[in-house]
Amino acid sequence: MPLLADVAVPVPLSQAFTYEVPAALAGEVRPGARVLCEFHRRKLLGVVLAVSERSAAIDPSKIKPLAALVDARPALPAELLSFLQELAAYYFAPIGEVLRLALPAIEREQVRALKAQGELDGMLDLGRAKQVGGRKVAYATATDAVEEPGTLRGQAAAVLALLRANGEQPVARLEERYGNARSALKKLAERGLVALDEREPPRDPFFRLPEERDVPPELNPAQAEAAARIDAALAALSEPGRAALSAPGDAEARGAAPREARPAGPSAFLLFGVTGSGKTEVYLRAIKSCLDRGRGALVMVPEIALTPQLVARFRARFGDELAVLHSGLSDADRHAMWASLHGGKVRVAIGARSALFAPVPDLGLILVDEEHDGSFKQEEGVRYHARDMALLRAHRAGAVCVLGSATPSIESVALVRRGKLVELRLPERAHREASLPEVTRVDLRRFGAGPSGDPLISLPLHRALERTLAAKEQAILFLNRRGFAPSVVCGSCGNLATCSACSVALTYHRGRRRDARPQAPAGAPPPGPPAPLDERPQGGLLRCHYCDYAGPLPERCASCGSRTLLLEGLGTERLEATIAASFPEARVARLDRDVAGKDRSQAILARMREGKIDILVGTQMVTKGHDLPNVTLVGVVNADAALGLPDFRAAERGFQLLVQVAGRAGRRDRPGRVLIQTRNPEHPAIAFAAAHDVPGFLEREIRDREEVGYPPATRLALIRIDAVDEGVGRGAAAKLAAHARTCPDGLARRVEVLGPSAAPIARLRGRYRFRVLLRARERGPLRGTLAALTGLMRDGIDRNARVIIDVDPVAML
Ligand code: ADP
Ligand code: ZN
Ligand code: ZN
Repeated sequence: MPLLADVAVPVPLSQAFTYEVPAALAGEVRPGARVLCEFHRRKLLGVVLAVSERSAAIDPSKIKPLAALVDARPALPAELLSFLQELAAYYFAPIGEVLRLALPAIEREQVRALKAQGELDGMLDLGRAKQVGGRKVAYATATDAVEEPGTLRGQAAAVLALLRANGEQPVARLEERYGNARSALKKLAERGLVALDEREPPRDPFFRLPEERDVPPELNPAQAEAAARIDAALAALSEPGRAALSAPGDAEARGAAPREARPAGPSAFLLFGVTGSGKTEVYLRAIKSCLDRGRGALVMVPEIALTPQLVARFRARFGDELAVLHSGLSDADRHAMWASLHGGKVRVAIGARSALFAPVPDLGLILVDEEHDGSFKQEEGVRYHARDMALLRAHRAGAVCVLGSATPSIESVALVRRGKLVELRLPERAHREASLPEVTRVDLRRFGAGPSGDPLISLPLHRALERTLAAKEQAILFLNRRGFAPSVVCGSCGNLATCSACSVALTYHRGRRRDARPQAPAGAPPPGPPAPLDERPQGGLLRCHYCDYAGPLPERCASCGSRTLLLEGLGTERLEATIAASFPEARVARLDRDVAGKDRSQAILARMREGKIDILVGTQMVTKGHDLPNVTLVGVVNADAALGLPDFRAAERGFQLLVQVAGRAGRRDRPGRVLIQTRNPEHPAIAFAAAHDVPGFLEREIRDREEVGYPPATRLALIRIDAVDEGVGRGAAAKLAAHARTCPDGLARRVEVLGPSAAPIARLRGRYRFRVLLRARERGPLRGTLAALTGLMRDGIDRNARVIIDVDPVAML
């Protein structure tokens, strides 16, 4: 019988293809390895899913041999490979595209080898694949050897002491500190006190500065209980003697052996701790338990660029043996990180959503910090949810999973109620003196504008800012609208300026101006209602926040030709300017996507921490997990903005935002204050946030979801249809909806079909958008219906319409 390989190729099809393994490669072609194979007369780069000796199900003469093997050692370990296949099946996503999420770049050496075999002629895909070559960096490590007393002096003694205290260091970093580091190291190496080696470099902003090792604090009782429960789960999943077996480098061999005897104890947790309760410390202990058992750990955070502090705490505890995966990495750095994990040299990976696919050796623990965060859902390509998939990957790998949050997602709370997650609570702030801030709702219907004249800076907010500045403390003002003014309206006919490619309003961005200080000096009469454009400084752009459009302000209204265009509403840019004008003595800065490049956001937060900023104005970016001890005032400028969206999660998201932003206040001994400005103070999201009553909100929201039949009470799949031609899109949507209604599960009413309808944002980037929403109590019928639709999508839909299946959708707009 021939030796056959099932190979996934990078085409948008869900099945694998069969190839024969040539005799020369028998024994070398293993699952997870990349191969070159002929596909419709092109050579493509595929991934081997399985190899077996069997008689072919199709005509043997049609089976082609594999052209070449690319990876001598499979790029995807068995554990990761089977997880990716499961993920593809869950999301109805093409396996080739799913595998691509996890595959590393190709090393130049591999390309050279293939060229030598003459395999690269006519090879399209590999030519376009990212390629990296190895640059290496020298590292120094103290050995266990001990010197003769008194034989070391000067820099040699200092360098050795530093290596012993802080662990291994790149030689270049030692040279920054010690002029003679090289000769000192040479001397130390000759005596066997220091080992020198060359490695793939972490030349990354996160590793630029050395981090002093910290001393783990004593845990408070709640933390200790949580850490003990996680440790017990790790112990149960790591059978005795495993650690001794796990030599680095054979990760895939170990991963391949299924862990048959799964213990009965819980292995997935929800760490529900109020902001500042010391969740991170629990994560650090969990990772230590995991490493002590010889297994690797994966940490996922919402936006790694915003969490340098978190990375610093990990480095302070575990040293630089950490793979930090983020979007700012060069291809070479990303590959170096990947290789150090894949080779078993580094056992801890930390990163955003895509870190889900890191080849952590012998994965024993996955932590998902801020698990409620929407950024864990990928909204393009393969639409996976990294938090949901973390639970799956951990379960399959025999690993512990910990989801952490101060505002758990409704989905996770539902899993606790169904017994799938065990809840661990941290009910108090870790610093004994720190208490939760006092929250006041400011009803904007009762309070008018303060001295600034802007109705969104009420008198109470103005006074609170004054008091904060007088006390030399810091304030954060949160507004989830970028730009200067969210809309430009015609003063004559009321026409709103909208994007020509999207059905959304354009935002006016004033951009950088020479005189940031505004027209009205402090104490001058309030400027009154928004001024007509003609009185505004020239420059600035109208931008669409959904596509890349940016254009000059029009001279006249597009509808009636009037020249009176009004800038309406308040964005962060205008808020910053208004605050700077009202508080001329204060140092005001802004943090949002417009000012924050990769390093800029870190720089702004660093200045904030150093006390060089008095008032920080910003969007969501200011709400994320920063520990800023001197912040005593948080102002939520307009709490209503997020609550009115046509999305069943609007209340949940608004609530999470309010609690998270309020959590930035009063994290140390000084008590914090939070002002929430709203026209709707009795809205449950606002009322429960003001009372710090997270469980109360969750309870109510779960009940509401049950009543209206939305997740987690039901399961959803959103079929997204778009087309340049409105009629084509509408036709495709109607056909899909009809097909869903008439498939067996649809006819039996086990699946409810809502729509077709136009999406809330009916046009985006020049394409008309429609949707069909599928809703079911059980997963089975929903999957049955989706399977029926994929059949139709293959050949029954107009090619000019694009159809995307979004399982467990998050973005509903
Ligand atoms: P969270 O992640 O829950 O928001 P952090 O882990 O950032 O909270 O902890 C908040 C603060 O409390 C940090 O400054 C941290 O160093 C400190 N902290 C945490 N645990 C302890 C402890 N057991 N003893 C003293 N300080 C602690
Ligand atoms: Zn007009
Ligand atoms: Zn647009």
